[in-house]
Amino acid sequence: MAQVKEQKLEQLDMKREMYHMIINGERVEGSNGETLTVHNPATGEPIAKVAKASIEDVDRAVEAARNAFDYGKWKRYPINKRSRVLNKIASIMRSRFNEIVELEILDSGKTMAAAQGQVMQAIEDFEFYAGAIVGHRGTVNNMPGAFHNYTEKEPVGVCAQIIPWNYPLMMAAWKVAPAIASGCSVVVKPASLTPLTAIILGEICIEAGLPEGVVNIVPGSGSEAGNHLVEHPGVDKVAFTGSTPIGKDIMAKASQTLKRVTLELGGKSPSIVFDDTDIDAAVDGSLFGIFYNTGQSCEARSRLYVHEDIYDEFMEKFVAKTKKLKLGNPFEKDTHLGAIISKQQVDVIDSYVKSAVDDGAAVLTGGKPAEVEGYEDGHWYEPTIIADVTHEMKAVQEEIFGPVVVVMKFSDEKEVIKLANDSEYGLGSAVWTKDHGRATRVANQIQAGIVMVNCPFSAFPGTPFGGYKQSGFGRELCIETLDLYTETKSIISYYGSKPINPLGV
Ligand code: NAP
Ligand code: MG
Repeated sequence: MAQVKEQKLEQLDMKREMYHMIINGERVEGSNGETLTVHNPATGEPIAKVAKASIEDVDRAVEAARNAFDYGKWKRYPINKRSRVLNKIASIMRSRFNEIVELEILDSGKTMAAAQGQVMQAIEDFEFYAGAIVGHRGTVNNMPGAFHNYTEKEPVGVCAQIIPWNYPLMMAAWKVAPAIASGCSVVVKPASLTPLTAIILGEICIEAGLPEGVVNIVPGSGSEAGNHLVEHPGVDKVAFTGSTPIGKDIMAKASQTLKRVTLELGGKSPSIVFDDTDIDAAVDGSLFGIFYNTGQSCEARSRLYVHEDIYDEFMEKFVAKTKKLKLGNPFEKDTHLGAIISKQQVDVIDSYVKSAVDDGAAVLTGGKPAEVEGYEDGHWYEPTIIADVTHEMKAVQEEIFGPVVVVMKFSDEKEVIKLANDSEYGLGSAVWTKDHGRATRVANQIQAGIVMVNCPFSAFPGTPFGGYKQSGFGRELCIETLDLYTETKSIISYYGSKPINPLGV
């Protein structure tokens, strides 16, 4: 049986002073010698330098991906062999799990629990697609008489994959695993603020035997390197996760070369707590729903609707537990909230809170940048609950992307469904009730890609993740993602013994 060959890229320590781009199976410096400086958001300290991709470097990466796709062997490998490489990537990540977790914490400021969960999910994504691709196949379709039709799934080509800073490794895995499983080549542009673990993933892909040029990683500025990828005629598809305004810009620019596009954008996800619910479970789920990843989640349940009959009891418990949440050393197991990604993001969060207060809202707890002992130069924000809001306020309509939840009272099911849907976004949503019929009715009427019923979690490998409305389109993390990285080719043949002469001449 053919073995997966390991390539020569020497394994370096995961923590280093300098990280390179990955182009055509090699670590390379930026063509103009420029670098990005990466900071630890918890301490504000610089931790490493990263080669910064110029336009020329992006061209080289696309050329490498193009050559790998057009002339290389990856898409021609038997499916089982491709699958074996994905499993190998996962097993190398497993063997270096603690190192990757540590690097992710340093790069992003997230807590140990969050980093461990996300790195494990990244590993499981590769394992999931290693299995899923084996069963991903075309169809045989009903045809009249002596005709036969079958379809083949062919990889879509070179994919530009642009990712945000909130889940640096997990987003890279959500993009790379289904694309390479499908036989595509990729050029990944990580977020400038958090490029480290995506680079490590690129190195691990090569160590696992992925042919050169199939995975290229180009850290660089969004408006330069990212934009160039979107406009590049050598790119067949753009898969983007990030903010809605940039997503719109990407869709417009990609239309010029009719690239395939999938977009995972912002959210303002509602959570509805009915009066028949288990209140303690709803409180715990709502805490996790907003404060997980320090609220820097596109699917954060940042609008909370609580039935008027249980509002006081719910809020008393919700506020009390929020006050107990611990901010601090991300490496300590009992820390609940990590840092905010940047000073700029702290200012954005704070301006939303101030605007709500100016509009007449009440801050029940939190409401300002946090001072954390020993981390004075880091970026922190207090877990914040805002009440007495009206639906048109900015803090209710716009994505804050921080540990801030707005809470509203409601009295009936129809009314709350209308309020929940009064948003330009439609990513996540949650329903807390013991009434199965009600849960089903609400789930059917909510305009969102994900509905969590009595459940705090939004994503497992295999469950579709993606939005309605201005939260984007396309689903990741699931089997149908493979359809978004493949084209369907229809093959029609005629096997009758009598020749056909359709024109009758
Ligand atoms: P962002 O500004 O949209 O950036 C996302 C990525 O796009 C980064 O790699 C960025 O590069 C790049 N980029 C910026 N401008 C670009 C351009 N003109 N052309 C091509 N690429 C460009 O978003 P962010 O501030 O990093 O992340 C927060 C947002 O992402 C939130 O709105 C959140 O809801 C959304 N998000 C959505 C999901 C989801 O699954 N739906 C998941 C996570 C985050 P730089 O880093 O160099 O700016
Ligand atoms: Mg940005």
